[in-house]
Amino acid sequence: MALELALHKAEGKTVGFVPTMGALHEGHLSLIRRAKKETDVVVCSIFINPSQFNDASDLEKYPRTPAQDTALLLDVGCDILYMPAVEEVYPPLLKLPAPPDLGYLAKPMEGAHRPGHFEGMAQVVRRLLDIVNPEKLFMGQKDFQQFTIVRHMLYQLKSKVEIVLCPIVREADGLAMSSRNVRLTPEQRQLAPLIFKILSGAKEKVHSHFPKDIMREALEQLSVHGMVPEYFDIVDGHSLEPLDLFEDTDYAVACTAVNLGGIRLIDNLILKGG
Ligand code: AMP
Repeated sequence: MALELALHKAEGKTVGFVPTMGALHEGHLSLIRRAKKETDVVVCSIFINPSQFNDASDLEKYPRTPAQDTALLLDVGCDILYMPAVEEVYPPLLKLPAPPDLGYLAKPMEGAHRPGHFEGMAQVVRRLLDIVNPEKLFMGQKDFQQFTIVRHMLYQLKSKVEIVLCPIVREADGLAMSSRNVRLTPEQRQLAPLIFKILSGAKEKVHSHFPKDIMREALEQLSVHGMVPEYFDIVDGHSLEPLDLFEDTDYAVACTAVNLGGIRLIDNLILKGG
C-alpha cells in the first residue's frame, strides 16, 4: 500500500480515508462513496483492532468476511484496501505516543459500558492516520460518540486532517446497519427496529417533554422481550453532557445502546440542530 499511496501523493492527489473493521455493508459503502466524491484517492482499512474490545468473546465473534469485503470495495470503486496484520499496526519495537486526553467525552454512554474502548479506538485511529496520512477522514454518525472523540483528538493534536461526518444508513425498517446485525436470530432481528422507533418517538417529544422524561419512557419501552437497554441518554451534541433542557443547546442528540441476546446494538438520532 505504501508505495502506491506515495505515487498518488507525489502526483498531488488528495487522499480520503475510511477506517473500518470489515464485514462491510451499505453503511460502510456510503462512506467510501462520499470519500470518492470529495477526494482523489480513497483508502479503506479493514482492521479488527484488539485494543478497543473490552470483551474477548465480542472480539472472537466479530464477523470476518474478507473475500466479500474485497468484492464490495472493488464494486464501489475504492482505490486502495489496507488490511494490515496486528504486528504491522503495532510493531513490537514501536514506541506508541502517550494516549491523548479524551476528557469527559470518553466517560459517558459507551465509555461507561465499555471500559478502555475509546482509548483503544483513539490509539488505532491515530496510528492508522500516521500510516495513511490522508487529507480527509470519513466517519459515520452511527458511532456518534466515537466521531466526537476523534474530532476532539484531531483538534488536540493540531492535525490538518479534516473529519467528515456521514449520516447513518438504515435498513428499510429503520434498523441502523451494523456488522453485528448478522448475528441476530430472526426473532431478534424482528424486534431490533424498535430502537429506531423509540428514537424517532423521542424526536417528536422535543417541544412537549423534558429530556429526563423522554429518557425514562424510552428505557421502559426498550425493556421488552429480552431486550435490555444499557442507556438512553439525551446529550449536548458538542460536549456529550446530559441535557436538562432542550433550550440549553443548539444541538441535542439521543444516543442508546441495547443488549439483545448478548449482541450490543447502538444507535442515535439528532433531535435538534446538527
Ligand atoms: P466499523 O466497521 O463498525 O468500525 O465502522 C466503520 C465506520 O463505518 C465507522 O465510521 C462507522 O461509524 C461507520 N458506519 C458503521 N455503520 C454505519 C451505518 N449504518 N451508516 C453509516 N456509517 C456507518
